[in-house]
Amino acid sequence: MDSSIDPKIALVTGGSRGIGRAISLELARDGYFIIVNYKANKKAASETLRMIRAAGSDGETVNFDVSNSEETGRAIETVISRFDNIEVLVNNAGITHDGLFVFMPEDEWDSVIGTSLKGFYNVTRPILEKMVSNKNGAIVSISSLSGLVGHRGQANYAAAKAGLIGASRTVASEVARLGIRVNVVAPGLIETDMINDVPRDLIKGMIPMARIGRPEEVAKVVRFLCSDDASYVTGQVISVNGGMY
Ligand code: NDP
Repeated sequence: MDSSIDPKIALVTGGSRGIGRAISLELARDGYFIIVNYKANKKAASETLRMIRAAGSDGETVNFDVSNSEETGRAIETVISRFDNIEVLVNNAGITHDGLFVFMPEDEWDSVIGTSLKGFYNVTRPILEKMVSNKNGAIVSISSLSGLVGHRGQANYAAAKAGLIGASRTVASEVARLGIRVNVVAPGLIETDMINDVPRDLIKGMIPMARIGRPEEVAKVVRFLCSDDASYVTGQVISVNGGMY
């Protein structure tokens, strides 16, 4: 794609399914060319791309594991060499490996932190370098209610998601003068594969709005934060959780 014709490029990590797919579609409707990252699910990523095209925009799928520094470094380098002006980065890729901390194996600690938090470093740092030279950009990272309040059985996940907030607020203050905005969205329970094992009826009773959220409801807030409508919003954490705290 010739970026001089349409300079609006957005990279969405974990764009193949769930919230990442909804974000990809929402940004596509705003005219972005979407780079849909995925880890393993090529079929789902291709389906996201088909939906992006059906929404009237375009994009491509890019396979890399955000927790793997070398693999991500190579992929981002290629992306940057092809697309000069990446205006939007959404750090959405994330996994859970729940269990009580006292029994938590090291690999489950490492993989969850590696995906959300090291992934933030691996993807954001090189993209930000480019945004700094362009003096333009918006970064949104997907944290979680867990990262704000902590949830039993999610020490690894809560640590990763809280870390995203600290890192984002810090980076936001470092690049605000350059016209780059960095924000966080903290969803509550959202209907995706990630919560397949969550007992719906029990959980609904704990949510003031008495329902689980839809991926689109998160995506619309991300779209806002990426848009000029949020031109004076940076370093913020916006919750999308049906009132659940
Ligand atoms: P899903 O499990 O539905 O989708 C996860 C996405 O992340 C997939 O696209 C997956 O790719 C991708 N992914 C996972 N690991 C990696 C990796 N190492 N490298 C690249 N991509 C990866 O999850 P959700 O849509 O529910 O979650 C999206 C984000 O929202 C996550 O960060 C999650 O923590 C957060 N969140 C979700 C909530 C919920 O209730 N659903 C609540 C709060 C926050 P692939 O398809 O290839 O496997």
